[in-house]
Amino acid sequence: MSTHVFDLVVVGSGGGVDETDLSAYLLKPSGASWDAGIIALEAGSGKGALKQILFQNPDLFNTDSSSPLISADQIYNLVQCFLVTHSHLDHVACLAIMAGSLSGTRKRVYALMDVLEDLQEHIFNDRLWPKLGSFDDRPGEDYKYLYTALDPQMYHKLESFPNVSVKVALLNHGHAAESGRQYHSSAFFIQDNTSGKEFLFFGDVQPDSLSSTPLTIDVWRDAAPKIPDILNVIFIECSWPSSREDSSLYGHLKPEHLRDEIISLATQVYLSRNPTIATANGSTAAGTSHSGTRSPRRKKRKVDPPAPVPAPPVLEPGSLHGILKGLRVYVMHCKDQLNGQPGSTMKDLIVSQVQTLVEAENLGVEIFSVDQGTHIRI
Ligand SMILES: [Zn+2]
Ligand SMILES: [Zn+2]
Repeated sequence: MSTHVFDLVVVGSGGGVDETDLSAYLLKPSGASWDAGIIALEAGSGKGALKQILFQNPDLFNTDSSSPLISADQIYNLVQCFLVTHSHLDHVACLAIMAGSLSGTRKRVYALMDVLEDLQEHIFNDRLWPKLGSFDDRPGEDYKYLYTALDPQMYHKLESFPNVSVKVALLNHGHAAESGRQYHSSAFFIQDNTSGKEFLFFGDVQPDSLSSTPLTIDVWRDAAPKIPDILNVIFIECSWPSSREDSSLYGHLKPEHLRDEIISLATQVYLSRNPTIATANGSTAAGTSHSGTRSPRRKKRKVDPPAPVPAPPVLEPGSLHGILKGLRVYVMHCKDQLNGQPGSTMKDLIVSQVQTLVEAENLGVEIFSVDQGTHIRI
C-alpha cells in the first residue's frame, strides 16, 4: 500500500508549440495546504494558462487549502521557488512575463549555474526584460528572483520547504546550431525528506543512443536501486511521434527512444538487484560515470569528445519481465499539431505509441499521458 507524498497540478505540459500549454507544474507536499507554499516546476506557461484552467475547474486548489484559492494571481503569489530544467523559452517564458506582477516573498529560482547565467545575461538583462533577478541574497534587495545554483552532486533542501530536497542531474538536449556545442538540460530528483520517497522529473532530453557522451544512463543508474519502493513516478518527455526521422529530433525523444530508455532503466534495476551479473558482464551497476566531473558552467564547456559507449550487459531472456512493476511513467512535452482538426490529438497518438511499444516489453511499468489542468498524486 502506498500513500502519496506530493500533489502536482499541470498548468501546461505541451511541447512548445502552443503558448497556452507550455511546461509548467505546481507542486506541494501532500501533508501541507496549497496556501502554505508552492513549488513551481518549470515556468513556460503561467498565470494566463492557470486562469483558463481555474475557469473550467474553480476548486482545483480548494480541496486542500485553508482559505479559498480562486485566482491565478493568488496561486502564483504563493509560489516560493521555481525549479527550472533549462533555459529554453518554452520552460521559462512566464518566469519573465509574470515577474513584474508577482508579489509575496522574493522567489528563489533553482537551476544549474548555466541556466541562471542565461536568465541573467539574456533575459533579465535590462534590455530583453528588466533586471528582476540577482544572485545577491542580502535582505532588502527588492529583486523578484534570487538565483540559486544547484550542484549536481548533492541534494539541496529547498528554502521554505524544510522537508523537500532536490538533486539535479545533467542531460543532453541536442547541439547549438552554430557552434555545434552540446546543449544541456537537466532532470530533478525531488525528495520528501520525511518519508524518503522521491520522484524524477526530466527536462527535455535527447536519446542516449544518439549521444556521443550519454548522460541519461547516469540518471537511470542513480534511480534504479530506488525503484519502486522509494521512487515510483517518473515524468519524461516524448516530443515526437514514431514517424519522425532520427535526423530531425532536435534533442528530443520519440516513442522508440523512450522505449529504449525505459529498457535501459529496467536493465539498471536488474543489475542493482543482481550485482554479480553486472560484474560478470564487465558492466558494473556503478558503471562509467560521464557526469561526475563535468562542470555545469557554460564558460568551461568544450565540444565533448566522443566517449566509448559501454555495451549493454547480456541478460537471460525474460530477465526484465515485470521488473518495473509499481512504476508509473508520465509522458509529457508532446509537440501537438495545431491544425484545427477535431478528435484525437498528436499527444494521444504519441502516448499510445509509447504504450504499445513499452507493453510489448512486459516490464510491468504503466504509461500515462500528462494533461493540462489535472491533479496528479505522487
Ligand atoms: Zn528544450
Ligand atoms: Zn521544451
